[in-house]
Amino acid sequence: MNPNDKKFFGTNFRLTQVQLIFLVAAFLVIFDNFTYFGKLLATYPPEGKNLFYLATAPVLMWVVYSAAMLLVSSRWTTKPFAIVLLIVSSLVAYFTDTYQVVVSRGMIQNVLETNIAEASGLLSPKLLAYLFFLGILPSLFVWKVPIRYRSFWGELRSKLLAFLGLLLLTAALAWSAGGFYASLFREHRPLRNYTNPYYWMRNTIGYVKRAVRRNAEHIERQPIGIGTRAHRAPGEKPRLVILVVGEATRADHFGLNGYRRQTTPLLAKEPGVIDLPHLSSCATYTAKSVPCMFSRYGRSEFSRRKELGTENLMDLLHHTGDIDLLWRENNSDPKGVMDRLGYQNFMSPENNPDCEGGECRDMGMLAGLERFVDANTSRDKLIVLHMMGNHGPEYYKRYPKSFEKYTPVCRSNLLEQCSREEIVNAYDNVTRYGDFFLAHVIDFLKKQENRYQVALIYMADHGESLGENGLYLHGIPYSLAPEAQTHPAAFLWLGKNFEDLNVSRLRALADRDYSHDNLFSTILGIYDVNSTLYDPTLDILAPARPKSPKKP
Ligand SMILES: [Zn+2]
Repeated sequence: MNPNDKKFFGTNFRLTQVQLIFLVAAFLVIFDNFTYFGKLLATYPPEGKNLFYLATAPVLMWVVYSAAMLLVSSRWTTKPFAIVLLIVSSLVAYFTDTYQVVVSRGMIQNVLETNIAEASGLLSPKLLAYLFFLGILPSLFVWKVPIRYRSFWGELRSKLLAFLGLLLLTAALAWSAGGFYASLFREHRPLRNYTNPYYWMRNTIGYVKRAVRRNAEHIERQPIGIGTRAHRAPGEKPRLVILVVGEATRADHFGLNGYRRQTTPLLAKEPGVIDLPHLSSCATYTAKSVPCMFSRYGRSEFSRRKELGTENLMDLLHHTGDIDLLWRENNSDPKGVMDRLGYQNFMSPENNPDCEGGECRDMGMLAGLERFVDANTSRDKLIVLHMMGNHGPEYYKRYPKSFEKYTPVCRSNLLEQCSREEIVNAYDNVTRYGDFFLAHVIDFLKKQENRYQVALIYMADHGESLGENGLYLHGIPYSLAPEAQTHPAAFLWLGKNFEDLNVSRLRALADRDYSHDNLFSTILGIYDVNSTLYDPTLDILAPARPKSPKKP
């Protein structure tokens, strides 16, 4: 039988490929994005001009999805691809609408590497309803509906025409609502995490690319720390350390280091603070510095290949089984460090109560932190807080208005359009807000001193250029980078329970040239982990420990 004679429930109804793609794209936009459009309405209240802009948002999404499906369409791919999109997106829509989760790369990894038995605990009638009505039913339609295929040139012509139409529509949207989309994409970037299926597809592709690269390079991840334990003398309180990973905070603009402005007034009043003024970073950009800080390898040895091929400090601490770990993220993501352990996202209002206008403050990362500390109070704990910190170029957005002490400030994301003074003012205001946050971290730790030995380690991931020699931001190759980019701010703060440490000796040594290389062994030293990777010469606290065994 000629496929063109197939009946659709006894009728002669049939579609062209382009029509089918347009239909599926429209279905995905309308039924799988309730959460996204809800958040869009919450961000841009539906009044005045917003009414028009909001109305264009589903149109733009439809244009993008249609174009993407057209690109990979053919007699053999259009239907299978549409069915996969419909089924997976129906499940994603359920989890997003029900739990406000976004399908991050870590979650994809969890799904792919977790066995199905664990996943069956998530089954619910609502899930099955989503799967049936938004996934299976439309998929049946796609599968069954006869397609009127034309000759190769006929199909090509109709697809090119479809593209042209979508392009014209895009131009019309850019012309009529360009400013709205510029604001949406730049200032409310986290919202795109709720777009379905864009976000899960993007992260799935990212995950596959990583896995392929790992395979291509024959990299298997070597575990580290299997069989190690964290040791604690009898009667000693468990340890609670907060490691704050800062962002782009340069040492020479940090008030503690004698900068002409007191940008750290609260830390300056804390007697327990031990400043580390000469710390050098592992790299000049986040994606390398952060994994390097947690790597067993120092800067001279660290490489992308080693990063992928070896577990990191957090994995090692996890393997001891003695330390509860928590990573709270307000920067971007943990840059692969928590791929195996997971983290809490504080970049949107679901977790972070301190968000305004799309900007979530670092202070919000302290919300509900007591719950983690109150559980299992007999166990050691490590909390990592990854700050938004001095993330540029829009420094003026990184602090609440009340922290705008130095004025005028640069209010453009095109730094070269601002004067040096305006840029530095905005940047220094952010550092003062960071001081406020770090002082609150210390206050939080002080409240735990009756139950824990508490300490704070603060290290920014790299520095920042503020227009010196025409350089802005960071990321210059290390060998060429100015000190402004390679010398981030850093300090320690020790609670009074670390009493067997010789703090005056520590202060005397604080002037040394430390680097991110010191972090790994310093943390292992604090928890007294019996790892062969522990190097006492890199442990910042080692010279301050008593030579004799710890007192009982
Ligand atoms: Zn960074």
